[in-house]
Amino acid sequence: MRNIDEYNFAGKKALVRVDFNVPLDENYNITDDNRIRAAVPTINKILSDGGAVILMSHLGRPKNGPEEKFSLKHLVPRLSEEFGTTVLFANDCVGVEAAKLAQDLQPGQILLLENLRFHKAEEKGDPDFAKDLAAIADVYVNDAFGTAHREHASTAVVARYFPNDKMMGYVMQSELTNARRVLENVERPYTAIMGGAKISDKILIIERLMDKVDNLIIGGGMSYTFVKADGGEIGSSLVEMDKLDLAARLIGMAREKGVQLMIPVDSVIADAFSNDANVDTCLSHHIPPMWMGLDIGPNARETYADVIRGSKTILWNGPMGVFEMSNFSVGTEAVAEAVVDATRMGGYSLIGGGDSAAAVNQLGYADRVSYVSTGGGALLEYMEGKTLPGVAAIERDDY
Ligand code: AMP
Repeated sequence: MRNIDEYNFAGKKALVRVDFNVPLDENYNITDDNRIRAAVPTINKILSDGGAVILMSHLGRPKNGPEEKFSLKHLVPRLSEEFGTTVLFANDCVGVEAAKLAQDLQPGQILLLENLRFHKAEEKGDPDFAKDLAAIADVYVNDAFGTAHREHASTAVVARYFPNDKMMGYVMQSELTNARRVLENVERPYTAIMGGAKISDKILIIERLMDKVDNLIIGGGMSYTFVKADGGEIGSSLVEMDKLDLAARLIGMAREKGVQLMIPVDSVIADAFSNDANVDTCLSHHIPPMWMGLDIGPNARETYADVIRGSKTILWNGPMGVFEMSNFSVGTEAVAEAVVDATRMGGYSLIGGGDSAAAVNQLGYADRVSYVSTGGGALLEYMEGKTLPGVAAIERDDY
């Protein structure tokens, strides 16, 4: 393993795994280029050393081979503009054309390979496919934190073919540095905010956080499984019946460990899952039949915001309500504002990827929190204490 800052890329061809899984509209225009911008420092470091860059990524979830809407060629104009050079493109990530383009690649040039997932071998972590990818480069850089929890050919297996020339890019490095900030030597009070649809996705992290945090704030759809486990009436709110025991156990665990577990005292409720539904507010323990809780209510907003503002370390993953609909986005906005305030007052705030990152970006608060992670699943798995294959493949000599 090596450190990217200590590596001289002069005369080398660097195979860089980036996360260019960007959203495209129906005309293949990029609607959010955050992931491209995130990779710029790593690419520029290689180019300015006098190296050449071979970019590889996945885009979307193609099922059976190539599909126009998942082609990475749509990114070529944006990349060419970003780097002030004509970015070359290989119509297949492996094979004769890619090999020839890579062979002819000159220092300062960039080659983008077609979507890795057009080959099933990518997600299977096929060593022969990884070997073919590796054959066209001298050094491997992994800068795709969002897929670091996957043992795919390009994210992990390919590292085997570069035992002395493999390293993390700047995105990966800063993701890990920031994740460690909420796991080790945290400044207190430490508050975790967990939202989103389901508890089942977040059980492990909630359990792990119980040993670390002072306050555990619950919001979103998962709140109602807690409310029901606590004896409340939740109408037709989202609930995971098979997780009621678990929710009750988590409530007990919090009590034992002295963690303040906060469930929304009130909710914004609706008579249908729609922005046009009738809307009301009530106690979360007394939601009328046929009504559902779709956001935290005004009292919960206020108590949550107070706790967040008084915190020195904050981890936030998952929205407080159905924030995609304007009638149910107020709770998520209130939490985002409180996180911004706490950060301004000297606290450290890490926003987990996925929907909470989208909410913070949408509100224009990305620069006013400490760090917005690019990795949803990868960040959660790292927090749960799991080894990320993409990280292990770089850090371990024997991988
Ligand atoms: P997750 O992917 O688990 O973080 O969940 C995010 C999704 O949860 C978003 O699409 C929200 O619309 C949804 N969500 C949040 N609160 C609720 C709720 N009270 N009822 C139903 N869905 C919700």
